[in-house]
Amino acid sequence: MTAPATTKTEDLPVVVIGAGPIGLAAAAHLVEQGIEPLVLEAGPQAGAAVREWSHVRLFSTWGEVVDPAAEKLLAPTGWTRPDPATYPSGGDWANDYLQPLADVLGAKVRTGATVTGVSRSGRDRIVDSDREAQPFVVHITHADGREERVFARAVIDASGTWATPSPAGGSGLPALGERTASDRITYRVPDLKDPAVRARYAGKRTAVIGSGASAFTALSYLADLAKADDGAGTKGLWILRRGISGSTFGGGEADQLPARGALGLAAKAAVDEGHADAVTGFRTGAVERDADGRLILVAEDGRRLDPIDEVIVLTGFRPDLTFLSELRLNLDERLEAPVELAPLIDPNQHSCGTVYPHGHRELSHPEQGVYLVGMKSYGRAPTFLAMTGYEQVRSVVAALSGDEESADRVELTLPETGVCGGAGLFDTPDTDQEAAGGCCTPAPALIQLGGPATAQTSASGGC
Ligand SMILES: Cc1cc2nc3c(=O)[nH]c(=O)nc-3n(C[C@H](O)[C@H](O)[C@H](O)COP(=O)(O)OP(=O)(O)OC[C@H]3O[C@@H](n4cnc5c(N)ncnc54)[C@H](O)[C@@H]3O)c2cc1C
Repeated sequence: MTAPATTKTEDLPVVVIGAGPIGLAAAAHLVEQGIEPLVLEAGPQAGAAVREWSHVRLFSTWGEVVDPAAEKLLAPTGWTRPDPATYPSGGDWANDYLQPLADVLGAKVRTGATVTGVSRSGRDRIVDSDREAQPFVVHITHADGREERVFARAVIDASGTWATPSPAGGSGLPALGERTASDRITYRVPDLKDPAVRARYAGKRTAVIGSGASAFTALSYLADLAKADDGAGTKGLWILRRGISGSTFGGGEADQLPARGALGLAAKAAVDEGHADAVTGFRTGAVERDADGRLILVAEDGRRLDPIDEVIVLTGFRPDLTFLSELRLNLDERLEAPVELAPLIDPNQHSCGTVYPHGHRELSHPEQGVYLVGMKSYGRAPTFLAMTGYEQVRSVVAALSGDEESADRVELTLPETGVCGGAGLFDTPDTDQEAAGGCCTPAPALIQLGGPATAQTSASGGC
C-alpha cells in the first residue's frame, strides 16, 4: 500500500509507539490540539509494561502520575482521580488510569500491534532528495502475524525500555554463562505475593545485582520474606560494583519523594538487620553452576562467591533502537539518549534528580518530526519520572501543532533525590563527589570488601 496520494501529509495521523503512561498522555495532548493520534501498542492491553510490575507500589503519588490533558479527556466520562496523596501500585496505575484513558481514546489505540520499523516513505536513511516532504511509513506486525504499513505526519516513540533490561555482566555484556543460567535468573522485581514465586525464594540464598530503586525494592521484599513464618533461612546477597558510601542507599529522608527515599532506607535496614550481605566492588564476569545446579558468581577479577540459588538482575534498562535504524537520530554515545538531553541526565554527572525542564528542542533529531519521549528518551539513564514525560509530550505536541511559544515554555520542577554529585565512575573515591557539592553531609568512610563474600557488610548513613 503506498502513501495515499490524495492524502496530504499534514492530514495523516501522528503515530505514537506505545500505550504506556507517556504514549497515552501524548495521544491526549494530540486530541486536545485537534491532531489525530494513532497509538500502536505491542501488548494485549494499554499499559502492558506497567502491568508486568503490577505488584510494585510506585514511589510517586497519584497526584504526580496523572497527565493534565488526560485528566481533562477523562473527566466527561465521570472518571475522578484517586486521592492524590496516595500511592498507586503498577496495577492500580494501569487499571484505574491507563485503561480508562485508552478506553476514552477508543479506536485511536490499537493493541497487539508491534512496530517493527519506521522510515520516510520511499526514502531510506541515505536519501536526501525531497526527504522532509515524505510522510513517515511505520511497519507493524499484529499479534496474529499479519503485517501492515501505516503512514504518519510525525512519529512519537514512547515505547519505553522495559523490554530491554541490562544484563548482570559488569561490563554491560551478559556475563559468561548468564544466558544458560536463565532458569535461575530474573530481570524483574519478583512478586512474592504469588505463591509459586514466593516458593522460589523462600529459604533460599538470592543475589540481587544492581543499586537503584528496583534493587532496593527487591532487597526489602526478600527481607520481609526472611522475617515471615514461611521464609526462615531466606538470605539476600547484594552485589554492588561500587563500595558502600553515603549515596549508596539514596537520599533517605532528604529525598523530596519520601517513598523513593524510604526504598533506600528499607534496603539499608535489610543489610543492617543481616537479611542481606553487601558484596562491594564486584563486577560479574561469569555465572557458573556447581554440582547441585546452584549458581556461582565469578567476578571479572576472579573472585568467586559461595553458591546461590537465585539471581535477580536489576541493573537498569536500555532503549531498543533497532526499529528506528532508517531514521536520522542524534543520540548520545553514553546514554543512547537525545544529545541535548543527555548532559542533563548523565548519571556520571547527576544523581540529584534535578533534571532541568526540557521539551521539544532537547528531544528533536536531524530527522524532523520524530521524537523519543518517556522512559525511552532517557536511554540508559535512571531517574526518569512520569511527570517529566508528561511535560515532554505537552511541549512536543505544542511544537507539532505549530504553537512554538507554548512548546518552548517548559515548566517543571522535579523532586530532588537528596543525593548529589554523580554516580561517578565506579571507583571514584567519595571525596570527588563531595567536592562536586552535595546536599549530603560527608558520608562515613568508604568500605571496600576484598575477599570472597562470605558476607561482611557495612552500612553507611547516606543522607
Ligand atoms: C518498577 C518501576 C517503578 C517505577 N516507579 C515510578 C514512580 O513511582 N514514579 C515515576 O514517576 N516513575 C516510575 N517509574 C518510571 C516510569 O514512570 C515508568 O517506567 C513508566 O511506565 C514509563 O512510561 P513510558 O510510557 O515511557 O513507558 P512504558 O510504560 O514502558 O510503556 C511503553 C509501552 O510501549 C510498548 N511497546 C514497546 N515496544 C513497542 C513496539 N515496538 N511497538 C509497539 N509498542 C511497543 C510496551 O508494551 C509498553 O506498553 C517506574 C518504573 C518501574 C520499572
